[in-house]
Amino acid sequence: MSVTNWAGNLTFGAARVHRPSTVDAVREIVAGAERVRVLGSGHSFNDIADTPADLVSVAGLPAEPRIDAAAGTVTVAGGVRYGELATFLDAEGHALHNLGSLPHISVAGAVATGTHGSGAALGSLATAVAGVELVTAGGELVRLERGDPDFAGSVVALGALGVVVGVTLEVRQSYTIRQHVFEHLPRKVLDARWDEIATAGYSVSLFTTWAGDTVDQLWLKLADGEEPDGFGAVPATRPMHPIAAMPAVSCTEQGGVPGPWHRRLPHFKLEFTPSSGEELQSEFFVARQDAVEAFAAVERLRHLVTPVLQISEIRVVAADDLWLSPTYGRDSVALHFTWIKDAERVAPVVAALEEALAPLSPRPHWGKVFHHAARPSRLADFLALRDRLDPDRKFSNAFVERHLAAE
Ligand SMILES: Cc1cc2nc3c(=O)[nH]c(=O)nc-3n(C[C@H](O)[C@H](O)[C@H](O)COP(=O)(O)OP(=O)(O)OC[C@H]3O[C@@H](n4cnc5c(N)ncnc54)[C@H](O)[C@@H]3O)c2cc1C
Repeated sequence: MSVTNWAGNLTFGAARVHRPSTVDAVREIVAGAERVRVLGSGHSFNDIADTPADLVSVAGLPAEPRIDAAAGTVTVAGGVRYGELATFLDAEGHALHNLGSLPHISVAGAVATGTHGSGAALGSLATAVAGVELVTAGGELVRLERGDPDFAGSVVALGALGVVVGVTLEVRQSYTIRQHVFEHLPRKVLDARWDEIATAGYSVSLFTTWAGDTVDQLWLKLADGEEPDGFGAVPATRPMHPIAAMPAVSCTEQGGVPGPWHRRLPHFKLEFTPSSGEELQSEFFVARQDAVEAFAAVERLRHLVTPVLQISEIRVVAADDLWLSPTYGRDSVALHFTWIKDAERVAPVVAALEEALAPLSPRPHWGKVFHHAARPSRLADFLALRDRLDPDRKFSNAFVERHLAAE
């Protein structure tokens, strides 16, 4: 039976697909294989998880979440989805600092690519990781913890170091979020008041088609004590989907109704298909301070972008120290594009965007559609770590060879 990614734009070329239900079985498969890639929940849009050899899904490992209240952490199987972990944590009075736009993705797969939500003070989901447990090339179990010299290379690792069977994440006390949606933010206000808008709440997202003189929607996810400011945009009078023409039934509750963090921070509910469902995605990160220049660069390409675009989302992410992270060392604005599902038409537009953003040193989201990734500044450290853990490159694939080649 062929296995595809979530978007259906990629059929994995694996000769064998394994779905082990114990860590010992993972160790045995890895030890006996020549080349291995790990599959999370398959939400990436490119060949990052693909292999012609052995593909291992860890979705069948028991979740087994264990809270360490003294350390302020939870340890859980790598294949567990954020939505399930969040439900467990909330019932225990705990929370994560942030979530992505959808709760359907696996923890290990999300942190492997630097997946993020929004929030000027909030790092990507990978920044909550305090420890990883890996099955490495020989089938050994290796644990790396924050503070270990190699730790910062082992979290956003693109699946190139081993199979993450366990992840330890920092938790905090459960909290409440209110979600307010505004429509038609005057475009000029976005430029003039960018810093204020980017920091206007716990988590801030803007949705735009880059057409016209307004930004379609401003979503504010507010913590206790924060007040909504629409910056001249109009409060929405009905629940909104980021693509205004789509029904909002799949979206988490809006209208300023307080609710638990995990039912407000994702845009989409766990029990529904997120986003549009028929799409490709790209995302580029530039320095937050360069946002206004980046918006102008995209708008100059409107004639190319609009015909293949469903919606764009603008988010902010705090800097981190994780070697391959797209937000390494740089407070960032993330420009996201939900494209129509037509790879041939989208590819040249992505190339044009990469060229237009080049003066701002853009970094791509590792899990989305892109052509070129600038050499990460800590690539040499990462490759040295890989040489230690996986000298024969058992966990490599064409994607890794293309984008993480030594000089
Ligand atoms: C509808 C939709 C919405 C999205 N929203 C967001 C968003 O809000 N923010 C954002 O930043 N991204 C978003 N993404 C992108 C998505 O979060 C990333 O592509 C993420 O990596 C997907 O996680 P996954 O478990 O599906 O990983 P996969 O796509 O299965 O794999 C991604 C990488 O992780 C590796 N990997 C997976 N599991 C393991 C493991 N156990 N051990 C070692 N390596 C592993 C794989 O080998 C591969 O290299 C979205 C994607 C979709 C489809």
